[in-house]
Amino acid sequence: MKAHLRAVGLLCGVLLMPLATALEFQGVWQQGAMLVGHTKPGNTVFFQDRVVSLTPQGYFVIGLGRDVKGPVVVEVREGNESQLYSYPVAQREYKVQRVDGVPQRTVTPPSGKVLERIRHEGRLVRQARADDDPREDFLQGFIKPLEGPITGVYGSQRVYNGVPRNPHYGLDIARPKGTVVVAPAAGMVKLVHADMYYSGGTLVLDHGYGLTSSFIHLSGALVKEGQRVEAGEAIAKVGSTGRATGPHLDWRVNWFNVRLDPALVLKYFPAASGQ
Ligand SMILES: [Zn+2]
Repeated sequence: MKAHLRAVGLLCGVLLMPLATALEFQGVWQQGAMLVGHTKPGNTVFFQDRVVSLTPQGYFVIGLGRDVKGPVVVEVREGNESQLYSYPVAQREYKVQRVDGVPQRTVTPPSGKVLERIRHEGRLVRQARADDDPREDFLQGFIKPLEGPITGVYGSQRVYNGVPRNPHYGLDIARPKGTVVVAPAAGMVKLVHADMYYSGGTLVLDHGYGLTSSFIHLSGALVKEGQRVEAGEAIAKVGSTGRATGPHLDWRVNWFNVRLDPALVLKYFPAASGQ
């Protein structure tokens, strides 16, 4: 394998050069981004230790995590030929809020039965995001699942008494309890859970090839596991279940277990008008 590797060094930005194995991307190389690539059907694409599945037309999706440091490398193999493409990743500044003097009880991590429950629920969600389902729903673009004021953004983090908490990975949209949430893109409902410890009413929608949306703190679901939904179809209702301070939708986007920024997905992959 090594013998075939023909490293091309660091090539910056979107590559549209006439190389043996052409590779193009839509999207931006920045932390939290979703990118849609295209190469010749039948080629093999490697990214972050994963063989990335291609649609029959040669499209594929990848994602960059919150704290990814560039450059990142995409390898494309065509027969015995291998080409490495390297991309810089723009670093982002995330909102960090320091809160001191918080009563220690409220910042102590759960233990015992509660911890067991949290781990079990974490496994359910990870499983729901693990499928590499060959549906091309993600190629149709995305719409907002809910209109309303944005009250929380991707990547932000709170530091309580000097201890950093898990960053916030969703896009929070505040609306009254019961407001209908629609599917941002077509997909298959992979998980419906009435009440998880942190996320409360939880729904995972699979848009194909490892790209999923999760909706949390819901007061109810309007669809069932295994159900196919179209973009814009009503899927759930806003709530404040789980660890939420008020009614809002928290929408998350994942590429497998990599957490992406829903705002970037909307910005760079809007659904064509009329959808
Ligand atoms: Zn949130």
